[in-house]
Amino acid sequence: KKLTKVLSVLLMICTGLNVFAAGNQETSDGIVIGVSLPTQREARWVRDKETMEAYAEELGIDLRMAVADADMAQQASQVENLLAQQVDVLILAPHDASASASLVKRSVAEGVPVISYARLIRDTSDISLFMAIDPEEVGRLQGKFLVDTVGPGNYILMAGAPTDYNATLFFNGAMEYIKPMVDSGEINVVAEQAVENWLPANALAIVENALTAANNKVDAILAPNDGTAGGAIVALEAQGLVGQVVITGQDAEVAAMKRIVAGTQTMSVLKDTRILGKAAIDAAVKIAQGETPDTHGSTIDNGAGEIPALLIPPIVITKDNLDEVVINSGYLERSQVYGE
Ligand code: BGC
Repeated sequence: KKLTKVLSVLLMICTGLNVFAAGNQETSDGIVIGVSLPTQREARWVRDKETMEAYAEELGIDLRMAVADADMAQQASQVENLLAQQVDVLILAPHDASASASLVKRSVAEGVPVISYARLIRDTSDISLFMAIDPEEVGRLQGKFLVDTVGPGNYILMAGAPTDYNATLFFNGAMEYIKPMVDSGEINVVAEQAVENWLPANALAIVENALTAANNKVDAILAPNDGTAGGAIVALEAQGLVGQVVITGQDAEVAAMKRIVAGTQTMSVLKDTRILGKAAIDAAVKIAQGETPDTHGSTIDNGAGEIPALLIPPIVITKDNLDEVVINSGYLERSQVYGE
């Protein structure tokens, strides 16, 4: 009788432990997160990927990562593949802002909530959350920098890829500062053009043509990111103008940091994707657990309505603060910027 009692107590403890273990698994370890990134061409996207993978591993979360080659059809099939793997939440950074709405529809129809990551997905109200380093603020920093540093003069204005709604947000932000001076006649716009697919070679061609049209009389270039700034600077070099034209960027790419040190690019914008990547995983876990991440009432209009938005502030980088902002923060190593 005594033995039976001991055994039954043991059984109770074991069952209790089992139930506890199973419950624990359900709230943390059992979660499967799918991530679909548009490209790895710019180093920032490599960083997003690495950050999310490392953080998910730290938390013991099963992360399924897919990377497209700046191609919507490829991204669509990768998303279908992730849905087939029965992910609990989808983190989607779209190649094409509007075309990706159908992927969201599909995902939500299968019961998988979607986070629009780093780039806004347009024309669907089915998105649970948009999270990014504030794109319009990035543009404002670029535009403000040009009008503060150059003021009146001849400007080349480039926007990013038309398929990426960030490009519109960056441009709108920059124009908050530039447009009033265009309207007053202080700024003369030599060229205004979008860089298809964010390709540096396309930016090079735009700047080359604009320099010819303006007889090389250009004072400022709005380049939406470091890649396009790189293309623009090659065009300036060909005309012996490098270092004489103020030029913006964004992403804190190593090549751009070297150019800022050398004085051939004037500024960039740090978007700390280490913070963004971790925040996305945290938000995905919350959503998987049926909770709603707190956005403190912040929203963004994506064409179908107001989407809850978590926006992280970007930081201007110039020669003066590069060490502090980019190196001391650990975003890049000193040897990457100042080494061979
Ligand atoms: C991102 C930039 C990036 C660009 C090209 C934009 O959506 O915000 O950081 O340089 O895409 O990939």
